[in-house]
Amino acid sequence: MSFDLSRRGLLAIGAGLGLTGMAGWRSEPDIVLYNGRITTLSDHLPEAQAIAIGDGRIMAVGSNDDMLALAGPNCRKIDLGKKRVTPGINDAHAHPIRSGMLHLRQVACDKNSIAALKQAIAERAKSIAPGQWVLGFLYDDAKTERPITRADLDEAAPNNPVFIKHRGGHTAFVNSMAFKLAGINEDTKNPDHGEYFREGGKLNGRMAERAQAAFTPFTNVQITPDDYRAGAEFISRYLAERGVTSVCDASGGALAMRGAAAALADGKFNTRLYVHFFAGDVEKAIDAGLRTGIGNDWVKTGALKLLADGSISERTAWLAEPYVGLGDFHGISVMTEEECYRLSRIAHDAGWQIGIHGNGELAIDRVLKVFERLQQDAPRPDPRFRIEHCTVLNVDLIRRIKALNAIPVVFGGYVYFYGPIMKFYGEDRLERMFAMRSLIDAGVTVAASSDYTASPAEPGMWLQSEVTRRDYQGRVWGASQRISVMEALRTATFTGAYASFEDKNKGRLEPNMFADLVVWQKDMFSMPSDELISVKPERTMVGGKWTYEA
Ligand SMILES: [Zn+2]
Repeated sequence: MSFDLSRRGLLAIGAGLGLTGMAGWRSEPDIVLYNGRITTLSDHLPEAQAIAIGDGRIMAVGSNDDMLALAGPNCRKIDLGKKRVTPGINDAHAHPIRSGMLHLRQVACDKNSIAALKQAIAERAKSIAPGQWVLGFLYDDAKTERPITRADLDEAAPNNPVFIKHRGGHTAFVNSMAFKLAGINEDTKNPDHGEYFREGGKLNGRMAERAQAAFTPFTNVQITPDDYRAGAEFISRYLAERGVTSVCDASGGALAMRGAAAALADGKFNTRLYVHFFAGDVEKAIDAGLRTGIGNDWVKTGALKLLADGSISERTAWLAEPYVGLGDFHGISVMTEEECYRLSRIAHDAGWQIGIHGNGELAIDRVLKVFERLQQDAPRPDPRFRIEHCTVLNVDLIRRIKALNAIPVVFGGYVYFYGPIMKFYGEDRLERMFAMRSLIDAGVTVAASSDYTASPAEPGMWLQSEVTRRDYQGRVWGASQRISVMEALRTATFTGAYASFEDKNKGRLEPNMFADLVVWQKDMFSMPSDELISVKPERTMVGGKWTYEA
């Protein structure tokens, strides 16, 4: 190790040795936070009272006396009032920039009844010209008394095409005019890797996976680069309110990076963003000389993102055994192994991390085969392969994940939020789903995520869901996978940083790390586990700056 003899380096060494009297160096932090209960997640000093911050990074961590002794006349000293402080939350898989944009432009369909949903759609339809598209997001068909149908949407908007996306993104619901404009009729066959659902032989309005492609020309037309900028600005504020200081945009690509960079230039983007690219984008990015990790401390390129199957919340994940109550339906595979390997290999050779979405065991097996082949054919020392979601596991899959040191990026809040759909998987299978306990026990690095908008970007919900395995109606699913609050916190912070090669800079409160942290209103370590969802930030700091104050 080389010693950095800068002010920060000296402080880091001093704090590491537990030295006092550092004020003798006349170094002065910008801010000292003191009188807190600080969970650092550091092996050297797991619990501390105070933190000294300068130039957006942590200078030292320690006792009140030691840290206050560093404060000079211009230093701001902030009494934390014994509040719990943790590293900032890192949502390791979400769709933030697009979500921000949707919040600004589309109908929010997170309603609890068909009537309320129809009303919201009817209101939007009345406010625009006949024939214009009504687009909606955040719909969850398990939260309404039954899934919305084509007939409902025809009633709500008889003169406008309607396209409502499930919050998970893998299914959508449309009305008759939308079908007509997209050229889909009762005789249309299901495309490869997609399905138009029918009832009594008639289209019922619901579709899954690649069946949605017929609508993309209509649903994407109105988005401008400025929408991405505005979306980035909106979502950065939204995430700060929830204690999220870093987020991986799991499908953003060049447009999301551009939007975030524009908001950053305006001083209105205060979240650290790691952006995955889909295959088409990656090839252009490779031509431009880009690889994973290019950018700055705020916005940088992430992994090549591919998908191997469908979704958990929308019951299209590709399972080894059929869904419960859905006949012989095993879900949907969305990419062949060869296609997956071919695209991954190009990116792998060009220095890209690979992140492949795999939910069901059959999909995860396919993802692992691709990773195993990559390491056989073109080994890289630390590729940090990501399995996005990695939901349904078994002993053999976990062994192969460990052998590759691949990183499962698992849904944090799904048991709590999607309780009503868990019956399609069944109790036995739930003991192998969102399998944080098994993965941690096997020594696998696992990171938590919301997949927002797929589930709420609420870290308190992740904690409660992972610690209790109880859904919002009180039913327990897969109790054998419970983890502790401390383990849950680690998967929400440090391991997310590891999954994006940023563990040297964030995820722990240690000297030289970014000053990204959350002061919580309540102490997650001393409250009933069934109330963890109520844990909210009092203040959020990113890079030494408060980005949210309640
Ligand atoms: Zn996603």
